[in-house]
Amino acid sequence: MHDVIVVGAGPAGNIAALQLAGQGHRVAVVDGRTEIGDKLCTGIIGAECARRFPPDESDIYAYARSATVIAPSGAEYRVARDETQAYVIDRVAYVRRLAERAMDAGAEYRLGQRVVGIEIDNRGAAVRTTFEDAPATISARLIILGSGFGSSLLAMAGLRSQGSREHMAGTQAVVDLRRPTDTVVYLGEKVAPGSFAWLVPTSQTQGLAGMAGRGPQNGRFDKFLATLRDDGRICGPAYEPRRWGIPLKPVQKSYGPRVMAVGDAAGLVKPTSGGGIYYALLSGEIAANVAHDALMAGDFSAKRLSHYERGWKAIFGSELRIGYYTRMLYETLGDRQIERLLKTFLSPHVQDELINVRDFSFDWHSKIILRAIRHGELRSLVTSFGPAVAPFLSRLTGMSPRAENDIELFDSPPKPANRA
Ligand SMILES: Cc1cc2nc3c(=O)[nH]c(=O)nc-3n(C[C@H](O)[C@H](O)[C@H](O)COP(=O)(O)OP(=O)(O)OC[C@H]3O[C@@H](n4cnc5c(N)ncnc54)[C@H](O)[C@@H]3O)c2cc1C
Repeated sequence: MHDVIVVGAGPAGNIAALQLAGQGHRVAVVDGRTEIGDKLCTGIIGAECARRFPPDESDIYAYARSATVIAPSGAEYRVARDETQAYVIDRVAYVRRLAERAMDAGAEYRLGQRVVGIEIDNRGAAVRTTFEDAPATISARLIILGSGFGSSLLAMAGLRSQGSREHMAGTQAVVDLRRPTDTVVYLGEKVAPGSFAWLVPTSQTQGLAGMAGRGPQNGRFDKFLATLRDDGRICGPAYEPRRWGIPLKPVQKSYGPRVMAVGDAAGLVKPTSGGGIYYALLSGEIAANVAHDALMAGDFSAKRLSHYERGWKAIFGSELRIGYYTRMLYETLGDRQIERLLKTFLSPHVQDELINVRDFSFDWHSKIILRAIRHGELRSLVTSFGPAVAPFLSRLTGMSPRAENDIELFDSPPKPANRA
């Protein structure tokens, strides 16, 4: 019998496996993929994430110090800082290297094996897998579910998943650049209503074009590619277009007897940008700490494993809440309002007060959001947008950037208001 089965060799699962195997526990990692880490993603991580979980130099495509934001009218705003704020990395290589380190530490990887069933009782836990149609069972004392967005395994493990269905879909393809570029973000109803689209360079000649949003895409991605061509940013066809989900809210309960859900499986993603690598790594690390304590104590009760949820809520629970209400507020805005907001928010003096400050962080959005909400000029502008923004503005006004430990993450969600 293994001590821990980790389902999913993404960032969350691999970091948990690495830590637990390093502590001498018997760990099995099961993933339905044969190529580790090959899941749709742009591969942008913030400077803090890169410090804490460093990518190999050779896996870094670009060091991002600036970005260009394109308003609905086509107006361009450049945001730049002196130091690197984010890294564009080869995400597949980054995730694979974590897995290789976990293997070196003794974790046993079973790739190409899909988990199709989970059984948990007070004697132990087991997953049923299929490999080339041959069923197998793996038993352990504890399961860590790192099986990614929309995973049906949570329900099988007894974790209710209500509240976890709110999501966006991300679409992305590889494109050829007409000229070298920094990261470009497009906003507006025509391109990506309630969200954004991007062009991120991975070299001087290639990049990733993508968009994220709720609801059906209705050919928007093709129109976005056409806009990029018209703007002279890309040329030729787009390769390997793919689409995958991004959760916007955490699951109601991320632990139960003998089980913890980490990363996207638990809905732990920044609701503002859809970035989830850092929280996947952090949650995997927290789950591994709690699993280690549980294994040492021989106690796999829900009560003991609840320390996991307390742990992630303490570290980034308020980020998730603040990010979520900010997204909801943004989703009410029409193009004219976005235009006015950008003009003020990215004006040189407001940038100096909010962005060009020492503690600006790409990894933690809540500080800048709350500062923006409290900024006189921005606040009166947003307030002037009328009643649709009011419920979100009032929620954000009362929030603080660091977390309250044992709280409900969300109060009853306000009804989405119609876009103005
Ligand atoms: C278009 C797009 C762009 C993104 N860009 C960024 C970005 O730039 N920066 C960022 O931080 N985040 C980004 N994200 C989000 C990021 O990719 C995820 O948050 C992150 O990969 C989550 O890691 P994870 O380990 O939780 O899950 P995943 O990386 O999804 O890994 C889950 C693993 O579980 C396996 N699995 C699933 N079900 C089973 C099963 N039944 N049996 C066995 N194995 C199973 C899968 O094969 C997969 O390998 C993006 C997402 C999308 C869709």
